[in-house]
Amino acid sequence: MNKKDVTLVAIILIAAIAFMIPGVFFKDSGKALIYVGKRLYGVYDLSSDTSIHLDNGHGTVNDIEISGGEVYMKDATCPGRQCVRSGHIRYSNQSIVCAPAGIMIIIRSGDDNEYDAVTD
Ligand SMILES: [Zn+2]
Repeated sequence: MNKKDVTLVAIILIAAIAFMIPGVFFKDSGKALIYVGKRLYGVYDLSSDTSIHLDNGHGTVNDIEISGGEVYMKDATCPGRQCVRSGHIRYSNQSIVCAPAGIMIIIRSGDDNEYDAVTD
């Protein structure tokens, strides 16, 4: 191999690794499904950090945070704050419920599209 070949191989390898890494790390990354009053409010990819501010208009405000592949109730004004104390969730079918606000957060794995399969 001359120097030019080595450079070419290196570029191909870097491109291949760059292409593979998202597949390796995000393959099983789930989605957080947020239900408000049993209606699907939104679907959020756990691989992208975001904050969701929910105000139900009845005095209950919930701040949901997605960070580092986890989702948690960062803050809430509901009585008891059980949802905040639920902590962080990251695995499929784990959930956080805020009963006073009628909010449910549930995690579904990336290849599970049964978003409507929620039972009481
Ligand atoms: Zn709550």
